[in-house]
Amino acid sequence: MKIINEVKDAQTIAISGHVRPDGDCVGSVMGLYLYLKKEMPEAEIDVYLDEPPAIFGCISHIEDIKSKFNTNKEYDVFVALDTTDDRLGEAEPIYRRARKKINIDHHISNSGCGDVNVVEPERSSTAELLYELMEPEKIDEEIAIAIYIGIIHDTGVLRYSNTSPRTLQITAELIKFGFDFSKIVEETFFEKTYLQTQIMGRAVLESVRFMGDRCIVSMVSRRMMEFYCVTPKDLDGIVNQLQSVKGVECAIFMYEIGTLEYKVSMRSSGKVDVSAVAMKFGGGGHVRAAGCTMNGTYHDNINNLSIEIAEQLENE
Ligand code: AMP
Ligand code: MN
Ligand code: MN
Repeated sequence: MKIINEVKDAQTIAISGHVRPDGDCVGSVMGLYLYLKKEMPEAEIDVYLDEPPAIFGCISHIEDIKSKFNTNKEYDVFVALDTTDDRLGEAEPIYRRARKKINIDHHISNSGCGDVNVVEPERSSTAELLYELMEPEKIDEEIAIAIYIGIIHDTGVLRYSNTSPRTLQITAELIKFGFDFSKIVEETFFEKTYLQTQIMGRAVLESVRFMGDRCIVSMVSRRMMEFYCVTPKDLDGIVNQLQSVKGVECAIFMYEIGTLEYKVSMRSSGKVDVSAVAMKFGGGGHVRAAGCTMNGTYHDNINNLSIEIAEQLENE
């Protein structure tokens, strides 16, 4: 399947991804936008997404993203990337109204929510999958940068086990365009502000191991975020830092999003299927990286998650 064949008759196209967009989400959404804008100059193409982190400013035309919108438009085609419809946030009603819904994703928890579904959980990233749906000769440097960012963010810079030989082949094709990939990796993936580094330090310092040191958990409250002048976007990377502790099978990181409401991120070394754990609480993701939103006190949430994790570790 090639994406162009699915959208070529459309006059209006909307593109979106999940709430609190990460690198794969922003990269895929922008990669597809730049590609279709070039291939279908006559079409009206809109991108709806929560305001992306400033680090993604290196992606061409990122300013075209509409983050505040109130529209009753009925699109000919809506492409939802890196997500299911229930995580589209404010774009969900627009998706519902669209005449043709296309869902492109790599989350194992996604059973497909479109009229056309391309969901391949073995793919490292939605960006990698999107590349396969494009005609390689039509990709330019700007599109390549967007896709490259998607791939490196979901693979931890080609390091997680979701990286396949094909991921590396595609990445090789992309860097042939000659952009400064090393600068992109440094500035979008590794570089942190001083305050981001401080709150990560605080979260690591206050982390607690449990279940015979096989699990680790930490939390950032709204008060802490206020104290360090940070927002949820600044907390990326904390859960991965916790997961890198020797002996840890499963890392949990939570931050407060409302009264008795937490966004939960989980990472696993592979023994625990954290997507299955997240799905029990209405979330999802991948075997080694998943998330959900939980209501209740911090300690109740840890208890509830622990029951599911312990069950898996016992059945190991
Ligand atoms: P996070 O820890 O939020 O970065 O999420 C880890 C992985 O799980 C990412 O691939 C997310 O897209 C996915 N994920 C996070 N939260 C959810 C959710 N509520 N439903 C489905 N997938 C999620
Ligand atoms: Mn994502
Ligand atoms: Mn992804």
